[in-house]
Amino acid sequence: MIDADVLISNGRVAAVGAGLRADHTIACDGAWVGPGFVDLHTHLREPGQEHKEDIASGARAAAAGGYTAVLAMANTSPAPDTADRVQWVLDRGEAVPDVEVATAGAVTRGRRGEELADLAAMADAGIRWFSDDGDAVATADLMRQALVILERYGAIISEHAEDASLTAGALIHEGEVSRLLGVKGMPAVAETLIIARDLLLSAETGGAVHIQHVSTAASVELIAQAKAQGLPITAEVTPHHLTFDHTELKGRNPLFKMKPPLRTEADVAAVRDALRAGIVDVVATDHAPHAPGETEEAGLASGAFGIIGLETAAAAVNTALDFDAETFFDRLSMAPARLGGFDDHGAPVTVGQPANLTVFDPAQHWTPERFVSRSRNSPFIGRPLRGRVIATVHQGRATHRIDTP
Ligand SMILES: [Zn+2]
Repeated sequence: MIDADVLISNGRVAAVGAGLRADHTIACDGAWVGPGFVDLHTHLREPGQEHKEDIASGARAAAAGGYTAVLAMANTSPAPDTADRVQWVLDRGEAVPDVEVATAGAVTRGRRGEELADLAAMADAGIRWFSDDGDAVATADLMRQALVILERYGAIISEHAEDASLTAGALIHEGEVSRLLGVKGMPAVAETLIIARDLLLSAETGGAVHIQHVSTAASVELIAQAKAQGLPITAEVTPHHLTFDHTELKGRNPLFKMKPPLRTEADVAAVRDALRAGIVDVVATDHAPHAPGETEEAGLASGAFGIIGLETAAAAVNTALDFDAETFFDRLSMAPARLGGFDDHGAPVTVGQPANLTVFDPAQHWTPERFVSRSRNSPFIGRPLRGRVIATVHQGRATHRIDTP
């Protein structure tokens, strides 16, 4: 890390050094300037649930959170399960100036877990990331066939590891809090069973698997073993699993209801250590917008799973982990850009690189209250955080900036 000005011209980094002059400036004193964040797990809700978010509003929320690229998940209606449908999402994303928008293709037709989607046609259209997120790929047979096909394209299956037979009707983590509240819990083994299945299938087929939102210490152990064996396995963790444990649910606040659920204090410590060590490769938001009537007002039993995350992710990570600048930008930008194939993102700030940048002040304290996202289902509301995105630059244009105090 060096102390310097950054000059941007024609959408690229034109100079890095002391005393640079330009027509427009962003004050960055004391802040880090690094490559823009890249999110491999964003629910943009379009098509089908635009009252929660759409591609344009999600892109604006992403920019406000320091992101310059996002990868949309496939649990929309309809799901992007054909070359035409993924192209529709990419075209909508192309029209949005704030961030680069990529999309996952669904692994199975309609994400129904019955038959494979047209994986080869989507891969031929340039899709490199496939997921039935919201659900795991339903059977070992479908997962195995998909890995065989996608291995030929160097594509990755991003897996929501949840054995649905163990979690039906469950609301939160199975443990002391679920027993206290008298609600059905999701056991940790519901996550590790699917991870173990997928690691074995990856070893057999050579296909690459990315484990989404890792939440348990046992999951970390399985992933570490697979990596030690040289398997093509990567993993992500969310800011909320790095921050909260299941005791937050004692007050039955539905804003702490998500999948996978918030786990124990020991699990939080394990996923923090794993991200620090690089066993878990990246931070991903699992930004999951829901309207107020679907979350806060609905109560714990009937409230929707999931929370928004784009605008609080970087601050939450900085608050929980206190990384140095190199590790921070690696986990939020460089590693996800590499994994998701975002060639114009995640590079060190050097002359000639595309000007996709984030200015982050690691010392600034603030408290989230309002959001750019169309939804506001966030358990971070009213919680003091340390570290703030001061500005975001996409293709040389400021897509977000706040006035420094
Ligand atoms: Zn998921």
